[in-house]
Amino acid sequence: MYSCLEAFRRLPKRLSSLRGKSDDISKPEPVSPPLAPPDFDVEQDVGTSTETIVCLLSEADECLVNHQYEEAIEILQRATQLGCASAAAKLGVIYHGGIDASISPDYESASVYYFLALKLIYMIPCDKWDMSLLLDVIAALSEMYRFRMNRQRDSDIWNQGIKSMKTISQTLQDPVCTKFLTHRDIQKCRAIRIHIDYCLGLTAEADGDFSGALSAFQSCTRVGECGFNTADKLIKKAQSKIRKLEPQVPRVKPVCVQCGFQPKEIKDIWNLLVCSKCQAVACCSKDCLLSHSVTHAEDKKSK
Ligand SMILES: [Zn+2]
Ligand SMILES: [Zn+2]
Repeated sequence: MYSCLEAFRRLPKRLSSLRGKSDDISKPEPVSPPLAPPDFDVEQDVGTSTETIVCLLSEADECLVNHQYEEAIEILQRATQLGCASAAAKLGVIYHGGIDASISPDYESASVYYFLALKLIYMIPCDKWDMSLLLDVIAALSEMYRFRMNRQRDSDIWNQGIKSMKTISQTLQDPVCTKFLTHRDIQKCRAIRIHIDYCLGLTAEADGDFSGALSAFQSCTRVGECGFNTADKLIKKAQSKIRKLEPQVPRVKPVCVQCGFQPKEIKDIWNLLVCSKCQAVACCSKDCLLSHSVTHAEDKKSK
């Protein structure tokens, strides 16, 4: 069983790396509008807050070692309020795994803190993101999506996370963000994108959008192996999802290629005529099919 405390022992290493570039956290310069909700006020007192955050984080670690969990949570909340993404991530880990008998797992709180961590990361210019922290948060969220949450029961949390993850994934595909990354960080980026694409696939699949699911799982496999165990396993899982989904997805889009008619009723969809020449498109009527066939004749002539 993955213990919360284990995750803690891993996190402090990250904090030291944050200390070095703590400016980035206290001086948010959003490249795009930040994800932070309007009611979330990050305190802007730059000079003092950097030092305060460092103090708060070590205080929180001390409390955790001494099993003063309530105090640790309070301190981490304060650091989160000052804009510290790793404090928010730690709170996520605490509620995700729970701690012994003191704090029981609470997925709603865990997800709220993970989302907050994502928002705080997003407020930093993307070329300065801490990829290790981001991967930790995304991998934890992906674990919740795969094993703990239910698409129907938790639909609000589910959708909120998907929205944030999509934004993160789009940003990671921007060359500005990845231009100066080390090889190791690029691999982390890949792992993050694999986790996100897999979650998008699960969402579409649960919603009955098989072609959406298929393209998300395909995009997951296109990212390619990254050397991170869980993410690489997800690629294999995505491949088997693709095998399962492919027969369920029509190869021809149910839209008339000529006039754009998009039938809603199943019987109208069945009435579409598939072009016998290319077998790649459908038409709503013989007239449209004829006009479409002409384009094939023109293709041949122009060659
Ligand atoms: Zn038509
Ligand atoms: Zn055709």
